[in-house]
Amino acid sequence: MTNTDGIQTLLDQVIPQGHTSGTTCYVESAKGAIITDVQGKKYIDFAGGIAVMNVGHSHPKVVAAIKAQAEKFTHTCFMVSPYEIAVRLADRLCKITPGSFEKKALFVNSGAEAVENAVKIARYYTKRQGIVVCDGSYHGRTYLTMAMTTKVKPYKCGFGPLAPEVYRAPFGDFKAFEQSFITTINPENTAAVVIEPIQGEGGFIAPPTEFFPKVAKFCKDNGIVLVIDEIQSGMGRTGTMFAIENFGVEPDLVTVAKSIAAGMPMSAVVGRKEIMDSVHPGGLGGTYGANPVACAAAHAVLDIFEEENILGKARALGEILTRIFGAWKENFAVIGELRGLGAMQGFTLVNEDGTPAPEKAKTLSRYCFDNGLIILVCGIHGNVIRALMPLVIEPDQLQKGLDILEHGLVNL
Ligand code: PMP
Repeated sequence: MTNTDGIQTLLDQVIPQGHTSGTTCYVESAKGAIITDVQGKKYIDFAGGIAVMNVGHSHPKVVAAIKAQAEKFTHTCFMVSPYEIAVRLADRLCKITPGSFEKKALFVNSGAEAVENAVKIARYYTKRQGIVVCDGSYHGRTYLTMAMTTKVKPYKCGFGPLAPEVYRAPFGDFKAFEQSFITTINPENTAAVVIEPIQGEGGFIAPPTEFFPKVAKFCKDNGIVLVIDEIQSGMGRTGTMFAIENFGVEPDLVTVAKSIAAGMPMSAVVGRKEIMDSVHPGGLGGTYGANPVACAAAHAVLDIFEEENILGKARALGEILTRIFGAWKENFAVIGELRGLGAMQGFTLVNEDGTPAPEKAKTLSRYCFDNGLIILVCGIHGNVIRALMPLVIEPDQLQKGLDILEHGLVNL
């Protein structure tokens, strides 16, 4: 199919408008940091399928691993007939997630499902119900995670009633965070605090360095399970395998998804053995969890991290973004704040009076798209431009993408 208008018309007929596509780039193929559409037009990808393609599109090692596993078997259901590839992957994840203690890993399919399971496990372990999340958080779109996500439109409005026993605390300011346990929920009723180390959809916000050590101590002192949601920030994005490592904290549970399997649907909850093991046999699971093809892709991703210095690449990319975005902030009054950490960086767009400028963000991302660059907007005000390009992006592709973005800023 090369007639984009025809596909677009059919999409409008058969896909509900609630499931919006941000662009009309109908993909024919994708490689590294380049997406080619059905008409042969090439786009530089600064979105990475929303933080999924850290090792790049169609990495040959991932493709080979998927093919080889698909030849052997694609599904038996881990709950019926298990297989070594999943057990070995769990072992690898237990080793690379922060924490020097013994761990176990549970595989499910999506980010939201991982968060849901982390909450199930924390509630079971603590025999408490309350879940505390932070203002500006994003944890998914299922009924529980929708309640845990703190942007009403478009994620929550009209879908109520939402799941109960979810409470909100401020992000980044520990004193204010702690005060929520006086004003909104008793710590003794709190099963888990669930936090992104760097807020993703909320606007690429990194907290001050002292925030997480204090939160971790507070959780420990009060018997609360600390769940760190690494779904967007993990798998090398900030220059360490998991973003929480930048803050020197060992969470009780970590949720991992997105870039773990380079686009194959896979997610995991990894954490303290005694917490993970508190749930009775049969209390956790799902038909597709630990899908063998996804496991093969995830092994390939971890091999690529080891063999191709992806963390080093992320750090180098982060330095370039810091330098370029820093220079832009000096030159463009429309840039308000620089946000993020490592290769998870972005900037806000503001009006002359300093108020958020979501329309400008839309105009800029549209300009980029028209000129061959796919880039995403985020933030509770929809005014943050974020960089989520594959960590393996070639220098000339990166430069070209940044040039397009800069021209867009000039034209705003
Ligand atoms: N948590 C975070 C931090 C996320 O960024 C996302 C997805 N953007 C999710 C959870 C939900 O993941 P999924 O869309 O795979 O359910």
